[in-house]
Amino acid sequence: PSGLDARHLRYMSRDDFRVLVSVEMGMRNHEYVPVPLVEHVAALKRGGAYRVLRTLLQSKLVAHMSVPVDSYRITSMGYDYLALHALVSRGSVSGVGHRMGVGKESDIHIATDDEGRQLVIKMHRLGRTCFRQVRNKRDYLRPGQHTTWLHLSRLSALKEFAFMKALHMHGFPIPEPIDVNRHVIVMSLVRGFPLNQVQKMARPDVVYQKLIELYLELASYGLVHCDFNEFNLLIDDDENITLIDFPQMVSTDHPQAAEFFARDVECLRTFFSRRFGFDPKHVPSLHADAPRRHNLDAELAASGWTRQHEDELERCDDAVANERAFVPSGLPLLPPIPPPDPDARADAEQDGSADAEGVAVAARRLARRASRGPERTV
Ligand code: ADP
Ligand code: MG
Repeated sequence: PSGLDARHLRYMSRDDFRVLVSVEMGMRNHEYVPVPLVEHVAALKRGGAYRVLRTLLQSKLVAHMSVPVDSYRITSMGYDYLALHALVSRGSVSGVGHRMGVGKESDIHIATDDEGRQLVIKMHRLGRTCFRQVRNKRDYLRPGQHTTWLHLSRLSALKEFAFMKALHMHGFPIPEPIDVNRHVIVMSLVRGFPLNQVQKMARPDVVYQKLIELYLELASYGLVHCDFNEFNLLIDDDENITLIDFPQMVSTDHPQAAEFFARDVECLRTFFSRRFGFDPKHVPSLHADAPRRHNLDAELAASGWTRQHEDELERCDDAVANERAFVPSGLPLLPPIPPPDPDARADAEQDGSADAEGVAVAARRLARRASRGPERTV
């Protein structure tokens, strides 16, 4: 499954979104939200939420558990819809197209905005494994224990976006970060290919040198990417490099930073040797070659990304936590991330219905329909 089947989106009514957002809110402290709580949060007239839940269930936007208590959780598709709806509503995205890639912990889709600019949306899918651990059904209903895929995916996106903002601000060659909502990041589309798709290179020595300089520059800002390899480095015909994929980045203060740095450099060296027959003489190390000269702390501090968030990311089960290294509290994150104010969000999102028809059409229709007020097309 692509994780992004837009077919239902265009049939979503105001009430559908309202109930879906209510389930999401209930999931702050329930993994499955009892129906009475959904009813209460959605505040539709009696039985309204119940009816809508059945519709959402048919569309696979929620999942149902009937024992021991009639309850629902949002599905990853449902969560995708809420995020896309928000991004479409505020004009960051107008259409969603085909999926470009599936990562271990993300889906990447091509997208577009109203001006026809090509974008990429990255949907974080952290903690799928965490969520699947075997547990008593009652555990799902126990309030307060909710280190779920939903929260982790959102945190991961928030972290990546904040770092991207800070790096972009300092002129690093990365995609332009445009917006974030929940677990979804919007960024510019990079022209070029991942290095792993490049079979022949005219000047591997020059490119290797560029990459090492980029990695050292990153380190001089106190950061180790931790996944600095041929899959996350894009290159165009003019040998321009773009670095992507930041959620696993750590501070150079991290106890294993030098190790991560060395591992990345070693992988890159091996890749250049095997693929292009180029064997670099100089293989840098973090402490010898990358004195820290700048601080991103100031740029990052305003973001609201806290040690607490990082801890939360960390706390998921080992399968996930091992992939996600730590950002020490001295290195929090960045500015204008939309406030996670539940009321504002509910207001913003109970409104209208979206439409993402394959490629670039989408939200024009949404805007038209929203201006006509709520209506149901099904
Ligand atoms: P993951 O964490 O799943 O590896 P990435 O951010 O690395 O996610 O994206 C996966 C793939 O999608 C990349 O290897 C690259 O081919 C493509 N991709 C991601 N972002 C962009 C972008 N902004 N422009 C072009 N291609 C991208
Ligand atoms: Mg990647």
